[in-house]
Amino acid sequence: MSLRASTAAGKRRVRFALACVAAGAALLPVRTMAKEGNACTPGTALHQSAPTATQGGLLLIEVKSTKPLAEVSGEWEGRSVPFWRDSEDDRQRKGLLGVDLETAPGGYELKVKGQTASGDKISCSAQVAVRKGRFATENLQVGKQFVEPSPEQIKRADEERQKLRDIFDRVTRERLWDGKFRIPLDGVTTGTNFGRRRILNGNPGSPHGGVDLPGATGTPVHAAQRGNVVLAEELFFAGNAVVVDHGLGIYTFYGHLSEIDVKVGDAVETGAVLGKVGATGRVTGPHLHWGLTVERARVNPLLLVTLLGGSSGERTRRKSSKPGTK
Ligand SMILES: [Zn+2]
Repeated sequence: MSLRASTAAGKRRVRFALACVAAGAALLPVRTMAKEGNACTPGTALHQSAPTATQGGLLLIEVKSTKPLAEVSGEWEGRSVPFWRDSEDDRQRKGLLGVDLETAPGGYELKVKGQTASGDKISCSAQVAVRKGRFATENLQVGKQFVEPSPEQIKRADEERQKLRDIFDRVTRERLWDGKFRIPLDGVTTGTNFGRRRILNGNPGSPHGGVDLPGATGTPVHAAQRGNVVLAEELFFAGNAVVVDHGLGIYTFYGHLSEIDVKVGDAVETGAVLGKVGATGRVTGPHLHWGLTVERARVNPLLLVTLLGGSSGERTRRKSSKPGTK
């Protein structure tokens, strides 16, 4: 979505990226030798949807106990892992582990702790290896005005970035979503550009933190799940944007809208129309930019649809996506 890069920031990012690569390489041999599997207190088991994750990935974690559980919490790579009770069975909890797009590859320990209804402490630990994501890189030569925003534009973009950070830092303790997450455009089954890095006139910009969904201007944009609207305004890079808080640190972001049809404070149901597809902000054509953060980690939102989403029949049938079709 964004065309943001300045020479100094670009160089800093390159240095940072190289430092991450070096740190990852140095840690990898030791960390991959760490024992596989997980360890739990007796009577407790932990299951993760995949043994490893990729940058920008998402894992579904399940904790099962032989006794009813009162509370379960998790921590991974400095982030808490939200857990919730999903079924009638009070002996299990589900959790979502979001791997930020720029988490350095390597092994990280997931720590889960909790308590049974009878007061017994439970705990689990598991190694979660993060692999490097395979993201596209685009080299572009563009006019200076696209690469170098004015000082006022930079100030505005920085303030908006901070505003979003403050929103994503707030965690609503209650789970507001209920059931499956959906792709926000009818008839669209996949998106592109997640993690793509643009190199503008030789300077690497930030990676693309969401997916771009194809859609003609005016196509209704639907809430991926139930939640509360916490942002509905025009932003410098994302244009007309909406953020929905689904609770437990899970937020979805909708950008480049031609119009916004909700306001901050609105409680929306799954499928509610948040606005219409457009080309506002720093874009070249109409599409929906759809983002997901889980406890501040930028994650590919399509993975949430897969993990908590539709039936396998719906998801495995890959059809070409036609914008705006039902
Ligand atoms: Zn985008």
